[in-house]
This record gives sequence, C-alpha cells and structure tokens, in this order.
Amino acid sequence: MKDVETRLFIAGRYVEAAKSARFADIEPATESELAEVSSASADDVNRAAVAAREAADHGPWPRMSAEARANILGRFADGIEKRARELGMLEARDVGKPVAECVNHDVSRAARNIRFFAAVAQTWTHEATQSDAKFLGRDLKLVNLTERPPVGVGAIIIPWNSPLMLGTWNLGPCLAAGNSCVLKPSEMAPLTSIALGEIANEAGIPPGVLNIVPGLGEAGAALASHPNVDAIAFTGGAATGRRVMAACAESLKRVTLELGGKSPNLVFADANLKQTAAGVARSIYRSQGQSCVAGSRLIVESRVASDFLELLKKEISRLKIGDPLQEGTEYGPLISAAHRDRVDSFVTEAVAGGAKLLAGGKAPITPATGFYYLPTLLDEVDPNFRAVSEEIFGPVLTVERFDDEGQAITSANATRYGLAAYVWTSKVDRALRVAERIKTGMVWVNSFFLRDLRTPFGGAKMSGLGRQGGRFSMEFWTEPKLVCIAYGEEEHDG
Ligand code: NAD
Repeated sequence: MKDVETRLFIAGRYVEAAKSARFADIEPATESELAEVSSASADDVNRAAVAAREAADHGPWPRMSAEARANILGRFADGIEKRARELGMLEARDVGKPVAECVNHDVSRAARNIRFFAAVAQTWTHEATQSDAKFLGRDLKLVNLTERPPVGVGAIIIPWNSPLMLGTWNLGPCLAAGNSCVLKPSEMAPLTSIALGEIANEAGIPPGVLNIVPGLGEAGAALASHPNVDAIAFTGGAATGRRVMAACAESLKRVTLELGGKSPNLVFADANLKQTAAGVARSIYRSQGQSCVAGSRLIVESRVASDFLELLKKEISRLKIGDPLQEGTEYGPLISAAHRDRVDSFVTEAVAGGAKLLAGGKAPITPATGFYYLPTLLDEVDPNFRAVSEEIFGPVLTVERFDDEGQAITSANATRYGLAAYVWTSKVDRALRVAERIKTGMVWVNSFFLRDLRTPFGGAKMSGLGRQGGRFSMEFWTEPKLVCIAYGEEEHDG
C-alpha cells in the first residue's frame, strides 16, 4: 500500500525502528500484505519513553492551561474528522470491519472522544478548603488546595479490533489532563494509530507529547516495565492483562485493565421479541463478534425460545456479508486465519459434544478469499463447553434456556467474566431487579452499547480493573496533590 505511513512516531517525527526491523500487516479481506510496518524493539520503546519523559518534565504541555490544551486537542479532533473517509477506509482494510461502520461510528467517535475529554479537563478544577490549626503555639488558619496535576507519562496499549476508538478513548483523557504518552497499537492493525502522529503535528501538539510505537508483544512488555512510564491503560486479553499488571507491580505503576467478556443477552418472554432479535443479532454479529462487549450468550425464556430463535435466524439471513470496502456491507472477515481457526475450534468441539448448529459454523462459499466465518448460532449447549465458558471473540452465539428470573440470573452470572449484560424486557421492575443482581460493570436494558461518555465503562471479575469515562478517566490520569498553606494573625515584635 503506497502513501501510508508505517514508521514509529517519536518526538514529533516519523523514524525507522532500530535495525530497520519490520513486520507484515495482513489485510483480512484479501489475505495479502497490506503494509510492512516498523517493529519497535525495547531500544525504540526506550527512545519513545525518553521523549515522553522529556515532554512531561520540561515541555510546555503540562504547564499550559486546560483551555489552551483543549484548543489544540480541538484541532486534533478536527484533523481526524477532516480525514474521516481516508482513516475509515484504512481501518476497514486493516481490521476488516465494514467501511460504513468505520467512518460513521469509529472515526466520528474518535474525534468525539478527544473533544469530550478536552471539555471535561476544563471542569477538573482545584478545590480549596479552609480549616483551623495550632502550630508552635500559634493559632493558624489553613487553606488546603487539592490540585490535580497530570500523572506524568502514560502508556496506552491497545488491541486490534477498534484501534481508533480505543486509542482515542485513552488518549483523550491522558492528553487533556496534561500527560505525555506512548501509544502501542496492536501488530494486527497498527495503521490508523500511526496516522495520528501527523494529525497531532498539524494540530500543534508539542513534540514528545504523543509517541507511537507499533510492534509485537515484546514492545508492549518493554513499555509496561519501563521506568519512565507512570501509568498504564491496557486494553486487550485477560492473559496479557495479567502480565501487564505483574510488570506494573515491580515499580508500583498505576494500571487500568479493560479486558475480555462473555456477556449474556437475557431475553424475557415479555420483551418485544422482534426488536429484541434485531438487538441481540447486532450485539453479537457486529464487527463479526470481535468486540469486548459482544453479547455472546443468549439466555432466553423457555416458552418463547423457539419463536425467538426463528426471528434470530431471519436476522442472520438478512446480514450482508462481503467486502468491507463496499458501502452496503454489514459483516466482513475475521482478523486472521489463525483467529478464524480458533473460532472454528470452539464450534467444532461444541458440535462434537452434542450442540446443535442452527446457523453458520463454517466459512461462506463467497467471498472465497478472506478470513470469513459465517454468523453462527449454537443451540443445546452444555454450560461446561468451552464455547459457553471462554471468550471466543468471534461471531458465535450460544443458546441456553430458563424458566424463571432466578435461573436466568444464575446462568448470567455463571462466568469468570463480568464486562456487560443485556436485559430485554418490557417490565421496568424486572429490568431494575435483574440489573441489580447481575455481576457486571455495565448492564444495558433493551439496547446495546449506547454510550454517554460521562458514565463508567469497564468490567468486574476477570473483565478488568478500573473504569474509563468522564471523571473516572480524569481520576486515573491525574495525581491528586495537597498544598496546605498556613497563615495567622500578624505578629508584632516585643
Ligand atoms: P492481546 O492481549 O493479545 O493484545 C493486546 C495488546 O497487548 C497488543 O497491542 C499486543 O501487542 C500487546 N501485548 C502482547 N503481549 C504483551 C505483553 N506481554 N505486555 C504488554 N503488551 C503486550 O489482545 P488482542 O488479541 O489484541 O485483543 C483481543 C482482546 O481484547 C479480547 O480479549 C477483547 O475482549 C479485548 N478487548 C477489551 C476491550 C475493553 O474495553 N474491555 C476492548 C477491546 C478489546
């Protein structure tokens, strides 16, 4: 692919990796090489972390007013929007997601993330309290300032499924609070993250404030253990999350982990079944199931189960599967051949164990090229099947049934994960009752993934640690600091 930047971005300049190391970035829809991308070594990560430290300790960014930073970040968001088509196409090619979703949702959300946090940071003001004290025999008054300076240098490590949206979701608060950072995109889809460097320069973000190091897992590991890094926002799988947290323990870095999920869709007989079928289909098959909040377990009330599954099959048959770059496409390929094989292994194993395949379970005949896997519906599953207990991160929906509310909640909670849950019902009291008892960080009622950016995003149990969004992100990216000023009556000599 010509005219696409593939190098590291350090201290405001695109540079080659040491020894010109590169890795191949494969396009999921064509199975061919999209680009050869610079692969950051531990030395390159060190260069980026030194640049970020220099910007944090001696540069203008943390010393500017939040308003001045917001003006620059506003231009950064404008730059993202101005390139919406270009970035959306690039993300569609790199990730395999439909271009309409990339342009209309992910790119516009990326710009919104930046603008939103630039605005929040301006409300993140110092607080002052007054109190009395006695010191060295004098009666004093105290003015206690609670300041909120930036933490310093942030590391942002992201996965491949929504690089623009996830990168900016963390960059927004990190930069708006006055930190500098090193962004490490996934080796599977690094191109749109790399493109942010040029947009940052055009917006006037000072050199060293944003550094970008595409690379393999070793680059992430080098970043997680780097002494210059003060805080890490990690988004990815639970196994990697544990490694990142262990690295943070060594130097007591603060860390937030946004990990995987196995989110239940609870469908009650009193729900509007037609709308619910469309909602459930969207929750699992959007982005081919490669979404942390995918509603991958259907738990449906027995007496409406067969009607509901028929509606769901209709929704599946309506999905437009095809080339992600075609405007009407709703469903593209998976990220890689290895991932498609992994997804298939869960399905094959479940079917061998007695599960019934109601849809999918294989690659489509067309498109013949690309890592496609059909939207899959698996009935008659045993809760002990790996397909039910482990995150597949693919387009596979398993079906369980319940006869009463208590049983529905027990099934929903029978997982190590706790990211999201979806409750479909027309009864408000039921919705509130069930939401209260479900052990997840987020519960959506009669909807999927509708976001007010002020609210907390994150998971319970093995789905993560900490929350992002509004003040939750600002708390993470700032270090509350007390400045206590004592004063008293004027003293007269003699
Ligand atoms: P992954 O854990 O394999 O990789 C994530 C990132 O970590 C990549 O950039 C990778 O290069 C890097 N990495 C690998 N080894 C590392 C190490 N030892 N130290 C530091 N960094 C390292 O995840 P993935 O396959 O890219 O993404 C899929 C996972 O991400 C799924 O589990 C999904 O649920 C999760 N996810 C979570 C959220 C959320 O907000 N909760 C959002 C999107 C994806």
